[in-house]
Amino acid sequence: MIKLQRRVTMNKVLLVDFDGVMCDMLTPVIAIYNRQHYHYTGEMLSIKDITDWVLPAGMKDIFMHTPNFFADLKPHEGAIEGVTYLARHFKVYFVTDALSNPNIARDKLRWRENYELTNIPIIITGDKALINGDIIIDDAPHHLKNFISSGSGKVGISVDLKGAPYTQKLDQDIKPFIKTAKSWDEILDRVYEFSVPFK
Ligand SMILES: [Mg+2]
Repeated sequence: MIKLQRRVTMNKVLLVDFDGVMCDMLTPVIAIYNRQHYHYTGEMLSIKDITDWVLPAGMKDIFMHTPNFFADLKPHEGAIEGVTYLARHFKVYFVTDALSNPNIARDKLRWRENYELTNIPIIITGDKALINGDIIIDDAPHHLKNFISSGSGKVGISVDLKGAPYTQKLDQDIKPFIKTAKSWDEILDRVYEFSVPFK
């Protein structure tokens, strides 16, 4: 993990996503889905089959209707340490969707509490373009596009911590404003690179 240097501009606002960045939603969704469907289909799905950010109906049902699903998610490796480190140097907000489901909103608040991250404010919205910030850290191509397109000087870190094909579906026109990261160490590296463009 690189350490940020003292002269880095620290007044940047970072918007950090939950699912796919802080916590691993896909691994349990795929595991539950396979348990429910293998008997009928004889097919085991893997992360490589997730080619679209919008999951198939059978998978969406799992996270919409499993009690405490989002509260029980495991953090991605390095996520808790990484975001804690960023929050010491930048203004950090969690920005996440709750899919109009109050149980999911409650679960996410509980998750943040379980990992002692309540010092980082959480914003729940389906439209991340509405949120004012400098750098978005997200796995969803459409959130990256909407945020970056919402104003000049906005940039994004496209996060792919599990090798999911959907993360590669980035529009050509936003690629100049995006850096990619495959681990939390790389996320910290990319934040540093965006913060000192003229080193
Ligand atoms: Mg996400």
